Amino acid sequence: MKTSIATGSISGELPEKLAAIAAAGFDGIEIFENDFLTFDGSPKEVGNMIRDHGLEISLFQPFRDFEGMPEPQRAQTFDRIERKFDLMQELGADLILICSNASPISLGGIDRAALDFAELGERAAKRGIRVGYEALAWGKHVHDHRDAWEIVRRADHPNIGLILDSFHTLARKIEVESIRSIPADKIFFVQLADAPLIDMDLLYWSRHYRNMPGQGDLPVTQFMQSIAATGYDGTLSLEIFNDQFRGASPHSISVDGHRSLVYLMDQVKRLEKNIIMETPELPDRVTVNGIEFVEFSAGKSEEEQLSTLLTQLGFKSAGKHKSKDVTLWRQGNINILINTETDSFAHSSYLVHGAGVCDIGLSVDNAKRTGKRARALGAKTFTQPVGSGELDIPAIRGVGGSIMHFIDKETDLANIWNVDFDENKAEKSNDTSTVGLCDFDHLAQTMDYDELLTWQLFYNSIFKTQKRPVVDVIDSAGVVRSQAIENENGSLRLTLNGAENSRTLAGRFISDRMGSAVQHIAFTTNDIFKTAAQLKSNGFESLVISPNYYADLQARFNLESDFLNQLKDNNILYDKDEGGEFFQLYSPTFGEGFFFEIVERKSKYTGYGAPNAQFRVAAQRRHVRVKGMPKK
Ligand code: MG
Ligand code: MG
Repeated sequence: MKTSIATGSISGELPEKLAAIAAAGFDGIEIFENDFLTFDGSPKEVGNMIRDHGLEISLFQPFRDFEGMPEPQRAQTFDRIERKFDLMQELGADLILICSNASPISLGGIDRAALDFAELGERAAKRGIRVGYEALAWGKHVHDHRDAWEIVRRADHPNIGLILDSFHTLARKIEVESIRSIPADKIFFVQLADAPLIDMDLLYWSRHYRNMPGQGDLPVTQFMQSIAATGYDGTLSLEIFNDQFRGASPHSISVDGHRSLVYLMDQVKRLEKNIIMETPELPDRVTVNGIEFVEFSAGKSEEEQLSTLLTQLGFKSAGKHKSKDVTLWRQGNINILINTETDSFAHSSYLVHGAGVCDIGLSVDNAKRTGKRARALGAKTFTQPVGSGELDIPAIRGVGGSIMHFIDKETDLANIWNVDFDENKAEKSNDTSTVGLCDFDHLAQTMDYDELLTWQLFYNSIFKTQKRPVVDVIDSAGVVRSQAIENENGSLRLTLNGAENSRTLAGRFISDRMGSAVQHIAFTTNDIFKTAAQLKSNGFESLVISPNYYADLQARFNLESDFLNQLKDNNILYDKDEGGEFFQLYSPTFGEGFFFEIVERKSKYTGYGAPNAQFRVAAQRRHVRVKGMPKK
């Protein structure tokens, strides 16, 4: 199947849009007249420029308020569309979209509309043009694809067909199974868009909140399964109206769009096994078994600070890379690397962003297949020189320039720690740490709010993960939108935090770091109080939480006073839901605002302590006021 995107979906001048769309791998575009009304070039020149980018014009759109007009408007409408046909022929476009009439003077009537289309079909045929009819969710008389199909069926003209748009069908919750009975050759074009579920005026929702398939809440996959079942093998096109996307980089939105279509086709193919679809073959979505390591880039002085902090947290120095200035710190199943190389990706990350996380290693079923799936979804491979005898670990560039490595147990990669590192065996076997950190619980990545959907689609398309609902975290300087991405057994949990402005702590972190990054790492313990006691004796200073928080906690949960005091004395935050209890403890910030979190999940608590986040942010703000911002 061919892929296409409406030029109106992305920002920029037409040449810039075309370059971004072509680079992302699309076959064609839907062109809006507006796109070249402001461009100095004849329609013919515009058409040639599009083709010079290796793109085809899949669709010319829109033509409004056509069918069912009374006279004299009817004759005027036919004259108007003849002029569009002239324009299309100059451009080199052969398919036009007519959306259902929204004019208050339109008369309605299926047969009247069918007669108008039959006449139009004759005119279009003379020009070699095809006409697709789309039911707008807010059309005056036709706002259901089943009625649009009935009109097309009765028009009974080879140059008249149907255009299906997932938004218009799904926004009105129209049964998608009804698509399966439409003949494929009468479906001239398919437009795809998702959207978050918001209860609002349909037109406003459509013009401002559409997003890429998979980024919203509509059952676009089910819609597409029905289309595939008809045998349709034409173009799949993105028609996305989104204020945020129109302000974002055309390149990154195009990449997201292409990724969303490849992912959608991959899902449909797996769900409709008996239907043959001409789409790329991708390895399965990747099962992540856990986070194998997190790597920090640092200069010598930060390495010292970080090592001190890790030591207080109960980590032991566990080895050194055989050929690189990389040290391994370990506790339980947690591996932390500190990279102080001066000739490496880590170092360039350090120079640009300062000390912080530069690389995440995920443990997957098969590292090679993971890399293959990621590349098929538009991710870029990352390579760097490998020392002799050392492992060549598959890696990709994540969003925002970070690196992600893949380790598996099926190959030599299982031996990463003793092949690439001189492990400190004595320390390992003598690991008597009583801090009791067991594993990674979650990584929190902070980004501009504009990038949140990009990250979400990146993870969910490559990995077998799901998104949770967005929660708002209130910072005194604004709102941070937080969305968790996680797999079924919780071995991969990521929280994506989208900062809407640079005055929030999250926003300041990304502006200081010059880009999105991991802002905190949470570890698990099985006994938060024992951990807290040991941390104290190690000289660890936890983030000081306001007494007001504990008063509020008491009011919310009616806790025993001994228990409440124990939480308070240790600066432990607490939450409870139907599943169980949750405990959180924070470190002060390091570097540009990075911090560690320690959590204990009791029974089946699956959240992240969202009600506590605003108290944590307030405590960090207070900490910064008292101690000053960490040096840059
Ligand atoms: Mg449409
Ligand atoms: Mg957290």
